[in-house]
Amino acid sequence: MENYNLIIGSHVSMSSPNYYLGSVKEALSYGSNAFMIYTGAPQNIKRTPTEKCKINEGIKLAEENNINLNNIICHAPYLINLGNIKNPNTYKLSLDLLKSEIQRTSDFHIKILVLHPGASLNEDRKKSLDQLINGLNEALNNDYDVKIAIETMAGKGSELCNNFEEVAYVLKNVKFQNKIGVCLDTCHINDAGYNLNNFDKVLDDFDKIVGLNKLLVLHINDSKNPIGSRKDRHENIGFGTIGFNNLINVIYNKRLNNLPKILETPYVNGKPPYKIEIKMIKDKKFDKNCFSDF
Ligand SMILES: [Zn+2]
Repeated sequence: MENYNLIIGSHVSMSSPNYYLGSVKEALSYGSNAFMIYTGAPQNIKRTPTEKCKINEGIKLAEENNINLNNIICHAPYLINLGNIKNPNTYKLSLDLLKSEIQRTSDFHIKILVLHPGASLNEDRKKSLDQLINGLNEALNNDYDVKIAIETMAGKGSELCNNFEEVAYVLKNVKFQNKIGVCLDTCHINDAGYNLNNFDKVLDDFDKIVGLNKLLVLHINDSKNPIGSRKDRHENIGFGTIGFNNLINVIYNKRLNNLPKILETPYVNGKPPYKIEIKMIKDKKFDKNCFSDF
C-alpha cells in the first residue's frame, strides 16, 4: 500500500462570485487532490458563460497546489435523458444540452464528463439503450479532449445501466472508443444488487464484462438502503449499509490506483462533511462521533 496514490475529493460548488476559483479553494479546504463540479445547477439549464467563470485563476491555483488537472471531473445535468423514446423533443433537448456541456467541460480544461445514462420510462429497454447510443454517437467527436463517463445506476424506476451488461452494451456500440468510459458509484452498485462485502469479485465481474481499462472515475458514497433496494439515497461514509471498511477497500484497491475518487455524501446540519470524511479516509479510521459537534 505504500505506493498507493490516493486521489480523493468531493463534489464542490461552482457559483458566483468566484466560480471556478471558488471551486478549487473549496476543494483545497477539504484536503482534496481531486474534485467534481457541475457547470451550473444540476436540475436546470441556466448556465453562466464560461468566460465569466474565472477558469484560468482556478487552474493556476489548482496547479500551484499539486491538483493534477486530469483528476478534476465535471458532472452533466440530471435533466439529460438520451434514453427517452416517448418524447422526441426531450431527446432533442437532451442531445443539445449534452453537446453544450461537452463544450463547457472543454472550456474548463476538464477531461471527464460524468453522464447519467437516463431511463426507458417503461418503454422498450433495448430501444431506449439504442437511442442512448445514437445520442452518444451524435454528441461525441474528436474536436474536444473530453471523455464521457457513463455512470452505473441504482435501477430506481426504469433507470438504464443498473448492471454491468447494459454498461458494456452501450460502450461497445459507441464509435469513438477513446471518448467513452465509466463512472462507478458505490451507493448505486450496492442498491443495484452488487455485494461490496466482496468488492474484488465485483471488480472481477466488471473487468470481465466491461473492462477495467474503461473505468475513469469512482463516486464514493455509503448507502441509506440495503443491497438490491434500487433506491439511490447516499449516506455519509461509514454511516450506511456499505460501511467504512468496505469503502476503504474500494478507495485503496490496488486495481484502482491512480483513479480519482469523488465523495457525493449528504451535507450534515447544512454543512459539507468532506473535510472530516477525507481525513477519516486518509487515516483509514472511522469515528462514529465525527459529526457530534458539527
Ligand atoms: Zn451522478
